[in-house]
Amino acid sequence: MRMQRLFVLTAALSLTAFAGSVLGQECSVTVDSNDVLQYDTDAITVNSDCQEFTVNLTHSGKLAKNVMGHNWVLSQAEDVQGIASDGITAGLDNNYLMPDDERVIAATAIIGGGEMTSVTFPVGVLEAGTNYTFFCSFPGHSAVMQGTLLLE
Ligand code: ZN
Repeated sequence: MRMQRLFVLTAALSLTAFAGSVLGQECSVTVDSNDVLQYDTDAITVNSDCQEFTVNLTHSGKLAKNVMGHNWVLSQAEDVQGIASDGITAGLDNNYLMPDDERVIAATAIIGGGEMTSVTFPVGVLEAGTNYTFFCSFPGHSAVMQGTLLLE
């Protein structure tokens, strides 16, 4: 009797998980970064049915944020270099982003090894067919730490 009940419970749980993966929209993504200048993804797709989209950024390395800090910044592709170079002047206190930079669509704080952070932005700010780029604005990192984001 006890075994039977346990089985039913397990079946119900896995059905919920299955329905969630098929019908539910993925309105968030987790991106990991590390001590060797890498994100673990180079392409993110945002479902246009989502109202908001959340990016969770983790740092699985060990180095402190003033040495190997990473953030996740979203902008149009052509703005990456300008944002990154203005960010150097802004410094770590401003998460290597010029305060109120209108070219920045969304951005997390800079984190170091073992830390995590996130940012949520309204999907309405994205346009289909536009080339968005995400990158790290820590000085020197954007050249290798970047990827594309697409509204679908
Ligand atoms: Zn970085």
